[in-house]
Amino acid sequence: MNKVKREEIFHRLRDANPNPTTELVYASTFELLIAVILSAQSTDKGVNKATANLFPAAHTPEAIVALGEEGLKDYIKTIGLFNSKAKNIIATCRMLIDKHGSAVPQDRAALEALPGVGRKTANVVLNTAFHQPTMAVDTHIFRVANRTGIAPGKNVLEVEKGLLKNIPKEYLLDAHHWLILHGRYTCVARTPKCKHCIIADLCDFKEKTV
Ligand code: SF4
Repeated sequence: MNKVKREEIFHRLRDANPNPTTELVYASTFELLIAVILSAQSTDKGVNKATANLFPAAHTPEAIVALGEEGLKDYIKTIGLFNSKAKNIIATCRMLIDKHGSAVPQDRAALEALPGVGRKTANVVLNTAFHQPTMAVDTHIFRVANRTGIAPGKNVLEVEKGLLKNIPKEYLLDAHHWLILHGRYTCVARTPKCKHCIIADLCDFKEKTV
């Protein structure tokens, strides 16, 4: 795919949704971090349902530590992998209190040192909360990048690097959200909705649905 096509793809995605954001519901950077940790291999909808009860009860590292692991589990037991997520979240909250003055750190290394926070979670927080042009490649972005030809790659890191290199600078900050939403609602896994796709004429996918 050439530069002109890539430029036009993001131009159209931006026109259709000028202010994209995450579908996770949060009121602070700390809540965002917790919601993103909870969202691993779970839907945003399921996470929002749980945090709608959790955050009014505990929305600071201290308050979550005070809940304790078992107390936290009561709020998140509808979410997949809730046992390990509860353990990680309590440990992360302790580390935030001990090492970061109860604030969420703004740099990748410090974020990735938190239990339950990998590269993808760090990328989401850096992008959504701290407005850094990072690219958190999830299953949707991986699929869209490969199908369209925007940044083909065999693994997540290859796609992440390709996207950072290929996406025109002016679109980089929001590209992560546009690609996720496109993959979640239009370029869906099983049968992509090519007929209703606003970038169909620019997409390189050979098996487009008609
Ligand atoms: S044309 Fe089809 S395969 Fe290409 S981006 Fe659109 S929905 Fe996905």
